[in-house]
Amino acid sequence: MNDPSVPPLIDRHTHLEGSLDSAWVRQDAARRGLDVPASLELLWSGAAVPFDGFIEAFLFGAALLDSREAVREATLAVARRTRAAGGAGFDLWASPHFLVVHRGQISLDDFWLGMEEGLFIAGALGLRACVVVDAVNHFGPRHGQAVLDLVLPGLPAFVKGFSTGGLEDCPFRDWAPVFDRARAAGLRIAAHAGENGPGSNVREALLEGGVARIIHGIRASEATFELLAEHRIPVDICPSSNRALAAEVDPHPLPRMLGAGVRCALGTDDPGLIPCDLGTEIAAARRMGLDDTALATLRRHGAEDAWCLAP
Ligand SMILES: [Zn+2]
Repeated sequence: MNDPSVPPLIDRHTHLEGSLDSAWVRQDAARRGLDVPASLELLWSGAAVPFDGFIEAFLFGAALLDSREAVREATLAVARRTRAAGGAGFDLWASPHFLVVHRGQISLDDFWLGMEEGLFIAGALGLRACVVVDAVNHFGPRHGQAVLDLVLPGLPAFVKGFSTGGLEDCPFRDWAPVFDRARAAGLRIAAHAGENGPGSNVREALLEGGVARIIHGIRASEATFELLAEHRIPVDICPSSNRALAAEVDPHPLPRMLGAGVRCALGTDDPGLIPCDLGTEIAAARRMGLDDTALATLRRHGAEDAWCLAP
């Protein structure tokens, strides 16, 4: 029986397109006569690659999501990985506009049906889950509006949030009208910030974009950590992903962020590309010098601020 005093373990940030199992990717690529790119092989081996190599690997996996069955498989890969690591749920980022409109490789109906089937099975396994629709920051706010045009009519109930990802090129103040529209439609707002862009993006996302949750935020200043703590903004930290894609941010600021009172929690980001699970992320946090009390705080934040557990 679960101990009610221990909060459920939640994977607070993982991407549908970055979660496929490597064995499934190899098999599906072979079926299509495709070679797995060297960048993806390097990532699977645990090596660091430049960000454009990561994007190449990410796009290779995303291209395989061209059917309802493949989307269901990706969703199930998240569920299986979460459960095997002792997790109780996950907040799942997904990019329907990218696959449906930008790539034109699947219909929106098949995309949502594949996710729905995967999430139904996840629920039967006892997992809690929700979806956050991800827009591409560097495609700009007109793209953001197009994402909302696509998803808002007939939005499935399992979609709880809207987020930006990709290259942090476009100022968050320009995204504010998009965020306002998503918020008015009942969605919670998150943004990848302070990851591949400057730490000042975190402050801007908060103060000019009105963002309610930050993904990564690891390049932010101490003053911004204090601001995040003051506003009780949840920050999703993905140690394996950060080590692969932002290796120069060393030492990792997680202990300082927690020390400043930031509501950090752990996520796996792209575990199908950068092999990891909740267990490896907890171990990575421990290697940063965090003790049992700090790890318990991460877990508590992970549950308290999880959108999959929110009413
Ligand atoms: Zn991410």
